[in-house]
Amino acid sequence: MAAPVLGIDLGTTNSLAALVGADGKPAALRGLDGEAIVPSVVSFAEGGAVVVGRAARRRAADDPMHTVFSVKRLMGKGIEDLTEVERSHCPYEFVPADGSQLRLKIRGREYTPQEISAQILREVVNRASAVVGETVTRVVITVPAYFDESQKQATMAAGQIAGLQVLRILNEPTAASLAYGLDGLHDGVVVVYDLGGGTFDVSVLKIESGVFRVLATNGDAALGGDDFDRAIAERCAQEMRAAGVPETALRDPGLLQVLRAAAERAKMELSEKLETELVISEDRLGVRWRRTLARAEFESIVAPLIERTVGPCRRALSDAELEPEQVHAVVLVGGATYVPAVRARVEQLFGRKPYCELNPMEVVALGAAVQAKKLEGGFQNLLLLDVTPLSLGTETYGGAVAKVIPRNTAIPARASEQFTTFTDNQTAIVFHICQGERELAKDCRSLGKLILRGIPGMPAGMPRVDVTFHIDSDGLLTVTAQERRSGVKAKVEIVPKHGLSLDEITRLVQEAAAHAKEDFVAARLATLRADAEFVLRKLDARVADAAGRLDAETLSEIQTARDGVVDAMAGQSPDGIDGALHYLEDVARPLVEMTMNTVAQRAVSGKLLDEVTQSAERTKAAAPAHDGSGPLSVKRG
Ligand code: ADP
Ligand code: MG
Repeated sequence: MAAPVLGIDLGTTNSLAALVGADGKPAALRGLDGEAIVPSVVSFAEGGAVVVGRAARRRAADDPMHTVFSVKRLMGKGIEDLTEVERSHCPYEFVPADGSQLRLKIRGREYTPQEISAQILREVVNRASAVVGETVTRVVITVPAYFDESQKQATMAAGQIAGLQVLRILNEPTAASLAYGLDGLHDGVVVVYDLGGGTFDVSVLKIESGVFRVLATNGDAALGGDDFDRAIAERCAQEMRAAGVPETALRDPGLLQVLRAAAERAKMELSEKLETELVISEDRLGVRWRRTLARAEFESIVAPLIERTVGPCRRALSDAELEPEQVHAVVLVGGATYVPAVRARVEQLFGRKPYCELNPMEVVALGAAVQAKKLEGGFQNLLLLDVTPLSLGTETYGGAVAKVIPRNTAIPARASEQFTTFTDNQTAIVFHICQGERELAKDCRSLGKLILRGIPGMPAGMPRVDVTFHIDSDGLLTVTAQERRSGVKAKVEIVPKHGLSLDEITRLVQEAAAHAKEDFVAARLATLRADAEFVLRKLDARVADAAGRLDAETLSEIQTARDGVVDAMAGQSPDGIDGALHYLEDVARPLVEMTMNTVAQRAVSGKLLDEVTQSAERTKAAAPAHDGSGPLSVKRG
């Protein structure tokens, strides 16, 4: 049996891995030393040894120039992208490299952030493999919801450099919600409040039928639990100064390190206890100092920091156009949410108790493990995020559906089709987006509409509109339409109804199979009727154009053939329409040739000839406008 797929939280401060156990529950993987957490720190020792994790963090005080913290902040970034804060976090040198990718120069060698992240991943995976007893090669890695494409790509690359197959990049807030099983929450809004070591992120997610959509993200890239430590350490330093500790000792880097570590320990203890003691003892400097710290005093020290998370929460909610009452669940993530005062503030802000039963430092990895198990085929009853269970497409003029992404396509997926206008000077097209296996839009589920406006006036069939369906790895469907000549664009985001049960999907697929024959006929009929309509309108325009120049006999033949098409359109036989159209095409050839010779028509070249004589083959079409704007869509062949 292959080694299990590992869920990995590649954090700014800490990283860890998790797996779903035999009991069906995700659990963090503890290394042989009993620790689940690997600090995201990489230190390059003299002589070429690379130290990762706890040992690297210990080296930091002595060797800051060769120890890399928070490399996640640099992923997928160019030097020009770095903020002042990000730069100030890094004592080492940056090298501008080709493209936008930055590199770090350490002991004369250049490293990309991806390579350094790869070291962390390797450490996490090696520890996991040792516990599992098999070499893990396949992983799911989480990233913040705000990561853009290049940051996600960089994370993928880090995995590849570490020799891993990254099966999925998963949003951290989505992972945290998965860990709590919130995907079962139908049409709910979840706020994920993530206060880590050095970053604060708040995400507003909408869960619909098992699909997670990020409605808004906000946060503060320079706020986290480490600031709590700093605030305590500063308070202590002031008191030490007042107690007569000399300035030279207070500026000693070693002492500052000791003070910072003691402050963090005190902070963590106060998450459990009401009082703790800080003991600073540095014989080298002759410093001996102690004080007790009560939880209430700690809270008053960090209150301004906690308060700084409130603004981003409010802004995220307002960006999502939601009130706190519309939130169904609040999830706490990040080690700093252990602090009771943080929990209390969040509860007060959202008017509800946040989810905090799962370890907030592990919850993202736990969710990644759930996703990993799903990719292995587990949790069959859970959301269907891996393939599109039903086809997605758009209705064409006439009521048929042009399928753009067929069912069972692995996601993420992207596919395009080209469409055109149905009438001359048509400036807008409605794309009615449908889901289902049936051939006619009326038998499929309607997901929404996309209206492309501002198409420049052109003869029918001339504009080329590229319609692209993109389903991201969270199952969110984005449909974009763009007309090539003018570049006009429209976009809509839709949540496909993936929450269908397996039974439902089976039923829909069987239904489609049962109706396959009649559906095929109906769709062909609809398409041919639309084609015929298109051909007749072009024909009438040409007849009017050629007024007086066409001999009576040809004209009457054309008229008869035209009546034949109209009769066939009223009937139920696709072949009847097809035949009538072909006949009309033959009879109308002299007319087409004649009008093609006029200068005005030559301007549009052979296009119109094509459109009139071959439209039955070349366009799939047919169906009246769905709203007041009067547009139609025709699929280009
Ligand atoms: P990140 O997501 O940035 O990697 P984590 O979620 O691992 O960060 O959080 C790290 C932060 O959590 C550190 O500042 C650490 O001091 C803090 N932390 C860890 N445990 C506790 C605790 N019991 N009480 C308070 N803070 C804690
Ligand atoms: Mg985190």
